[in-house]
Amino acid sequence: MANWTKKFKAGDCIFREGDTGNQAYIVDSGKVEIRLQQKNSVKVISSLTKGEIFGEMAIIDGSPRSADAFAVEDTEITCISKDQLIERIKKADPAISFLITVLLNRIRSNLKSISKNKTIKEELQNIEKEKEDDNTFIEKMKFENELIEAIKHDEFIMYLQPIIGISNQDVKGFEALIRWNSPVRGFVRPDLFMGLAEETSLIIPLGQWVLKNACKQFSKVLRQTGRQDLFVSINVSGKQLQDDEFFTVLEKATQQSNIHPEQIKLEVTESILVEGDMVLEWLKKCKKKGYSIALDDFGTGYSSLSYLSQMTFDNIKVDKSFTQSMHEDPKSYVIVKAIIEMAQGLKIPIIAEGIETEEQYKALKYLGCDFGQGYLYSKPLAAEEIITWLETYKKTA
Ligand code: C2E
Ligand code: CA
Ligand code: CA
Repeated sequence: MANWTKKFKAGDCIFREGDTGNQAYIVDSGKVEIRLQQKNSVKVISSLTKGEIFGEMAIIDGSPRSADAFAVEDTEITCISKDQLIERIKKADPAISFLITVLLNRIRSNLKSISKNKTIKEELQNIEKEKEDDNTFIEKMKFENELIEAIKHDEFIMYLQPIIGISNQDVKGFEALIRWNSPVRGFVRPDLFMGLAEETSLIIPLGQWVLKNACKQFSKVLRQTGRQDLFVSINVSGKQLQDDEFFTVLEKATQQSNIHPEQIKLEVTESILVEGDMVLEWLKKCKKKGYSIALDDFGTGYSSLSYLSQMTFDNIKVDKSFTQSMHEDPKSYVIVKAIIEMAQGLKIPIIAEGIETEEQYKALKYLGCDFGQGYLYSKPLAAEEIITWLETYKKTA
């Protein structure tokens, strides 16, 4: 007999309440009862025959068996290991595995209230924990539904934030930053909803909206100011890059807005490079088509630098957390200095984010940083406001 099948005689115990559960079972033949020991009696909570599964709860959430299992006839069963099942649940969509766990907890707490084996305190703690998980999940689902509606009703606005040349403070381009004006929540921070969009497939329609509208708003600025020497940086997530329609949408947005691929920088964070060689291949394809690639949030995520030798990035962006702590924390100053020196060695121009003070600007200039953006110059603004801003822009030093 194969070691994944087991035979039991009528009356044999298959497992007992409290046993460690590392296998689930499918009944191949015979009959199995799941029983709960009560104070003065035994309650049969289910009776299983050919094709039915039991013992799966303990192996999914790792808690001990919550009931006894007995063969009531001569029975043959197939065993499924914990690893086999866990692997499948882990691979499932996070929402599905969450639902499975919630359902299992619910069944368990029903069983507990029948068995009365647990203390009231334990019961209450479990119920509270379940409620917390349920609320987080429900909140997330609500937020996701609102985001779906927001895409349908076009509740987003594309803002632009100027990027200046550090040496002479000339305006060189903009970063396109999305804003969600929700009728329910008001302005929602992009890192909050873009994070959720990235967890789901919503990043695809939202990312396509970003590509189209970043090009559209940027082209409006070029048309109305008569300037052609500017660029626009567009934030792109890893999932978006791997979408089949990404290039088609990007190229269409570029052409329809009458801008050149050379005027567009795609900003990717270091963290997407962890997703493997495919991402590097996609980025190289973008470069071949004339688009530039900027490495965003440098130094905050991925710890390997090997990708810097596998592909030539057009810019490295120093995260605003470094820029802003440069004067309070000598270590940050050293880190910024080291990033700039490394980028200079690699001949990659550096963009520093989050410049709020003249002191920060001067330090970055002294260190040889190439470009900068931050509230010292302008917050992200709608295209019309950017046009006015450009007319009145005065260098700070
Ligand atoms: P990020 O790509 O690092 O964008 C820079 C963030 O720094 C922006 O925040 C910008 O408004 C903010 N910032 C710029 N200068 C200053 C400054 O001087 N001081 C301070 N305190 N902040 C400054 P924002 O617009 O809230 O965006 C947050 C993040 O959301 C972005 O970080 C990016 O990761 C994500 N995001 C925004 N728009 C998009 C988008 O269109 N697509 C994608 N995939 N992600 C986006
Ligand atoms: Ca960015
Ligand atoms: Ca950044």
